[in-house]
Parts: sequence; structure tokens; C-alpha cells
Amino acid sequence: MAITDRLGRPLGNLRISVTDRCNLRCAYCMPERDYVWLPRADILHFEEIGRLADVFGSLGVDRIRLTGGEPLTRQDLPRLVQLLARKPWLRDLAMTTNGVLLEAHAQALHDAGLHRVTVSLDTLLPERFRELTRFDELGRVLRGIDAAARAGFSAIKLDTVVIRGVNDDEIVPLLERAKGWGAEIRFIEYMDVGGATLWSRERVVSRQGILRAIADAYGEVEALPAEGSAPAERFRLVDGTVFGVIASTTAPFCRACDRSRLTADGLWYLCLYATQGLDLRKPLREGASDEQLKTLLTGAWTFRADRGAEERLGLRERAPLVGKADLQNDPHLEMHTRGG
Ligand code: SF4
Repeated sequence: MAITDRLGRPLGNLRISVTDRCNLRCAYCMPERDYVWLPRADILHFEEIGRLADVFGSLGVDRIRLTGGEPLTRQDLPRLVQLLARKPWLRDLAMTTNGVLLEAHAQALHDAGLHRVTVSLDTLLPERFRELTRFDELGRVLRGIDAAARAGFSAIKLDTVVIRGVNDDEIVPLLERAKGWGAEIRFIEYMDVGGATLWSRERVVSRQGILRAIADAYGEVEALPAEGSAPAERFRLVDGTVFGVIASTTAPFCRACDRSRLTADGLWYLCLYATQGLDLRKPLREGASDEQLKTLLTGAWTFRADRGAEERLGLRERAPLVGKADLQNDPHLEMHTRGG
């Protein structure tokens, strides 16, 4: 039984964060020195994730993306992939990773049933990578993408957050490198989500700025038809190369948003900008039936009217969404906790 929210948007796409831990500290996501982590006892077991996934599936979810933190820091992830890949209602199973541990796991993930993989890649310059992420891991990330390209996934995507004065001079080199892997690259506007404490409007390179840089290098850029609720606008160069732009900051797409997020400890968020999540872990561990869980989910989704990014667009003074003190008090406000 598919359900819709107050703006007529179906429940379609579930992002499941399997851990809040990460092995990088990207400046646009985890710029601070210290973080408050979720208690280990609260982290959902794979079987609990599988059970919740089935309840979501019964209400219309047919696409799942595994996220983190960094999902590959979770032990034995291919076992969860295998468990989810067997779900008859699941049409698409993808994962977003920073790629550091991908070389060792790409083939096992593919063989376990993962369809697609998206790797975050913001620079091709080792020194810049270290400055941006605080770790000297570019070589491992690039080898991870090589391994993914060999493993046989139905698609590989690269996600690049473009930040003025940081990596906006690498749009064309990254696009060229993506071609070599047969990967589709998506350029993402820097977002003022929870945890992005260094965000400022001046550091955002807009969709137009990204497209201008690409058109300057390649000439004509052709817009492709929209793909359902997918956040990326897709474009084609004259040589057939397809790339995407995710304009979450200057041209948000909340009207078509069918995404929700399950944190590693079982809180369900209906929007990336939502300040409250619905605790599913407690009823799950207290023995709620599938019907009771369905009722909970249905009640929340049918009441949903979230348009977080669109509402931010209307603000005259726009600054980071959440202050550092509030992030320390509630790690669920962090983007890395709710899976970006
Ligand atoms: S801001 Fe919220 S409603 Fe808008 S696209 Fe993002 S998750 Fe969806």
C-alpha cells in the first residue's frame, strides 16, 4: 500500500545510515575536532534494519541507499547488502562511500547484490585532499574507484561538492577523470545542512557557475529530461558524456522529494533539514508488530509537509543551520549521522 504526504509525495526512497562513524573529516561535513558519537548499544543490528526495511517496503519504498558516516567502516557490510538484496520489493540498492575502504570490498559488495555505488571525490590533488579531509587517503580512494569500475556494478557515480576557493578550479579535470572510469559525475552545491559549520553563502558555487565552467571548456551543454524524483539535473556534452548538477542550495527540488532517512540508531527523519526524528528503535525493540510499525510510519509520512531547502531559500540572512553547541547536545542534527 503506497502512501503519500501532505504535498502528494510518495514514500519511495530510503537512505539507511549504518554508522555515524567516518574515517575522513571533510570540511563541509565534519569540520570540528571532536564529535559526540551514538552509543554502540543503540546501533541497529542488520536483522533489525532488514525488518524495518520490509515495513518501509510495504508502504512504497522500492529504493534503498546505504550511507553513513562511512558505511564501509561498519563490519561485515556485505552481509547487510545480501540481506536487503533478497527483498522482492526492492528495485534499486545503492551505497554512497568516501571510497577509502572500497578497494578491499568492491567485489564482495557487488557479489552480495549491491547494484550501484557512488563515491565522493572532491579533488584529484593529494595535498588538497589532505587539507579538505584531514587524511592522506587520495591514493586509496582512487584505487577504490578503480576496483568498483572492475567489479561489474550497473552504475558508478562520483559526487563532488564544489566550494569556492577550494576546488572550483577542478570541475573540468574531475569530469575528465570520471570519463576514464565510465562514471557519471554529479557536481553538488555546498549545502548549509547540520554540521556544515564553515558554510557561507559566498563559498557556494551555484548551478549556473558550475554549468558556465563546463560550457567554457566544452561548448554546448544539453539539458536532459528529468528522471522522476532524482535530485540531479542531468546534462550531456557534445561527445555524449553525461554529468549531473545537484542544486540543493540555489534551486532545491523539495516538491518531488520522496526521500527519508533512517539513522544508524533507528531514528527516522523526513527531511535532511528536519530537527526531530521519529524513534523506531524503541518500538522495534519493545516488540511492536509489523502492523504497529506501519501505523507509526503512515501517521508520520501522511503528516509530512517538509520543504527544508526551499524554506532556507527564502531566508534573507542565511548562515549554518545549527550552531556548534546544539550539535554537541544532539548528534542527530549532524549530516554525517543522518546520512547526507
Ligand atoms: S530539503 Fe528536505 S524536502 Fe527538500 S529535497 Fe532535501 S530532504 Fe527533501
